[in-house]
Amino acid sequence: MNIHEYQAKQLFRAYGIPVPDGQLATSPEQASESAIQLGGDGWVVKAQVHAGGRGKAGGVKLAKNLSDVATFSRELLGTRLVTIQTDDKGLPIHSLLIEKIYPIKRELYLSLVLDRATERLIFIASAAGGMEIETVAHDTPEKIISVPIHPAAGLQGFQCRKVAYALGLQGTQHKAITRIMQGMYDLLIDKDASQIEINPLIETDTGDLLVLDAKINFDDNAVAIHPDILAMKDPAQEDDKENEAQKFGLNYITLEGNIGCMVNGAGLAMATMDLVKLKGGLPANFLDVGGGTNVEKVCEAFKLILSDNSVKAVLVNIFGGIVKCDVIASGILAAIEQIHVTVPVVVRLEGTNVEQGRALLSNTGLNIFAAEDLAQAAEHVVKLAEAA
Ligand code: GDP
Ligand code: MN
Repeated sequence: MNIHEYQAKQLFRAYGIPVPDGQLATSPEQASESAIQLGGDGWVVKAQVHAGGRGKAGGVKLAKNLSDVATFSRELLGTRLVTIQTDDKGLPIHSLLIEKIYPIKRELYLSLVLDRATERLIFIASAAGGMEIETVAHDTPEKIISVPIHPAAGLQGFQCRKVAYALGLQGTQHKAITRIMQGMYDLLIDKDASQIEINPLIETDTGDLLVLDAKINFDDNAVAIHPDILAMKDPAQEDDKENEAQKFGLNYITLEGNIGCMVNGAGLAMATMDLVKLKGGLPANFLDVGGGTNVEKVCEAFKLILSDNSVKAVLVNIFGGIVKCDVIASGILAAIEQIHVTVPVVVRLEGTNVEQGRALLSNTGLNIFAAEDLAQAAEHVVKLAEAA
């Protein structure tokens, strides 16, 4: 799960990590009001969307005066921001973070992520902050250090010093970076975050360290036990269909192709998508109806798939283990009846009650094709989608 920058900064504040004074605004009037309350003689107006790369995309504006704040806010609010990290539709800007401008002496990079290869949390630090860390890693990997943390020992003083030296910090800055790293570490553990990224962490003209940008991701499987984090969820930043799917306990991900796929089990879903591609087609989605599915779930799954206009044919590939094939077949029929499916549906059923399932689907007078095996099903659905 993702949260907004302003929410990440609230959490940072609670963990003693220094962030600029700022306020959230949802209208130009509120933005101007916030700037006045914050004081100072310059503000940053930052679009709150769940994506990085906002700066280059025009989502972070430096306002020299109050009229700039109002102008930028009017320009940004209600629009969608397209960055290199979003798709070409972008994400809606419903709110802005207004912050005081701080003079930047240096931009640094600091993150804490789970490294699955070493099974450790690692701090990644670089004095080359402000730009994409992927670019730094590609062009000048020597400018990045990574410091693994042993789970039993926790964060150690020498590890903080290592990062401090790599970032070229001096004097009291060592204490400051230690505090920031400890805060990040505690926050990640306490709240089951999977990743915390600060880019940039800045050194101000007076040598203070300050977090200008903060991104935190949380483990979806853990948010249920953190109501404070769950409350930070912003469905407006997520795919409508993916939100709808979650309500019914379906795993749905939108893809680019034109073949809707309904499958039970993530492994089978991957295999199905591979096979569709092998046969020259492109999946429009990834939809896993799960193990213990029922008629209602299958119905909702169908509605989801068909609400995507690019879908020209549907492939249902179900292995009836826990869920029986006749239940799936009834679900498919109910869905087709309820929502007047016009696109062709290819069904491959296998497993428990497969004969009853196939019998239900044959001679319905509907646009359904029962396939014998998966390869044949994939080939057929690709042909149907091409012909459409
Ligand atoms: P991102 O592009 O989505 O990663 O958004 P950031 O919050 O990192 O902002 C992009 C860039 O805007 C930063 O790297 C800074 O150079 C600049 N920026 C953001 N906040 C401030 C600020 O308070 N003062 C100044 N001078 N620049 C800022
Ligand atoms: Mn950034």
